[in-house]
Amino acid sequence: MAKINENYSKLPGNYLFSEIARRIQAYRAAHPEADIIRLGIGDVTQPLAPAVVDALHRAVTEMGQAETFRGYGPEQGYDFLIEKIIENDYKPLGVQLDMDEVFISDGAKCDTGNIQEIFSQDSIIAVTDPVYPVYVDSNVMAGRTGVLGADGRYERIVYLPCTEANSLKPELPEVPVDLIYLCFPNNPTGMTLKKDELKVWVDYARANQAIILFDAAYEAFIQEPDIPHSIYEVEGAKEVAIEFRSYSKTAGFTGTRCAYTVVPKTVMAYDSDGKSHSLNKLWLRRQTTKFNGVSYPIQVAAAAIYTPEGQAQIKSVIDYYMTNARIIREGLTQAGFKVYGGVNAPYIWLKTPDNLSSWEFFDKLLSEVQVVGTPGAGFGPSGEGYFRLTAFGSRENTERAMERIKSLKL
Ligand code: PLP
Repeated sequence: MAKINENYSKLPGNYLFSEIARRIQAYRAAHPEADIIRLGIGDVTQPLAPAVVDALHRAVTEMGQAETFRGYGPEQGYDFLIEKIIENDYKPLGVQLDMDEVFISDGAKCDTGNIQEIFSQDSIIAVTDPVYPVYVDSNVMAGRTGVLGADGRYERIVYLPCTEANSLKPELPEVPVDLIYLCFPNNPTGMTLKKDELKVWVDYARANQAIILFDAAYEAFIQEPDIPHSIYEVEGAKEVAIEFRSYSKTAGFTGTRCAYTVVPKTVMAYDSDGKSHSLNKLWLRRQTTKFNGVSYPIQVAAAAIYTPEGQAQIKSVIDYYMTNARIIREGLTQAGFKVYGGVNAPYIWLKTPDNLSSWEFFDKLLSEVQVVGTPGAGFGPSGEGYFRLTAFGSRENTERAMERIKSLKL
């Protein structure tokens, strides 16, 4: 008899986005004329940069000619892209990487979800709360978390609350942990850590033989000069950190799919005899067995981001989103909300007024001003009482939404 992986039964189901869709649908059914503005989406709306599109066309033409056709590529990615990443994304930060420390993939979602496979089943994981749900769910599927309690927390996960009480910055765990997921700039709170704040985590990991899984998917949105773009800017991080990056938000690749993960050869973990092993080797083994590489045209398209035109074009799109972020921040502040994020990230995290729950505030925004966002409770128990808006909409919709929110009766 084929039996299922019963760990899947421990997942609560994709309640958040299906519940949002259900409530919008119910509102639309009752108010067919309603003009609903969605500021909840985590997907980009601006098209690919012209330099990227040109490169894609050229690569597709190559694939259609016998002399330049390519079949399977290297699982870890083509050298031409890895060279550009090292030269442009790391060298200027003073970070030296070898070619075999960068792994091209089809998304940071897959990589942050798959990375847990190379760690022991009994690893204790720590996550910030609220959190990008993939880190939690992938460990639930792997059987590492125990069951979900009535308080919305899994038995064996260590939650690091990020609330107003600690300025939305995680504090070191009080019990020993093995794997620590950090995401900065953060989804959903939009918060960042300065170098000395990140160093606390690197020092902790070095002292406790723990590993930091650092999700830098929103690195390109950093505007302020004193915020680290990579965890490797912190001394010692190359011994304890794996870093994930993505072209999804950086360059509009959410539908095109390209990302990369850095696993320095100096990052070690231990077997049950206490012998150290290179995680780079394990990840290579995992990827070469289960992944067959990102397609050639997509890697050529990603490499085009690093040309001078490509850089200018993607910067102007990021500026566009960050202007939206400023409009949202300022609009909400004028309307009397307590607002976080939106300075170095495309996410704005607000405290709901009058102690409304996240879902009560969702209903109020939808019914009174027809604006949709994401209830903070959907990102973890400590997200209750907060709400996420995103800067990925069009300028027009962002401005209209803010005018409407300012008219809200609080
Ligand atoms: N990491 C974080 C924190 C995200 O918010 C997202 C997407 O929303 C991802 C990773 C996924 O990125 P990708 O499109 O590269 O899979």
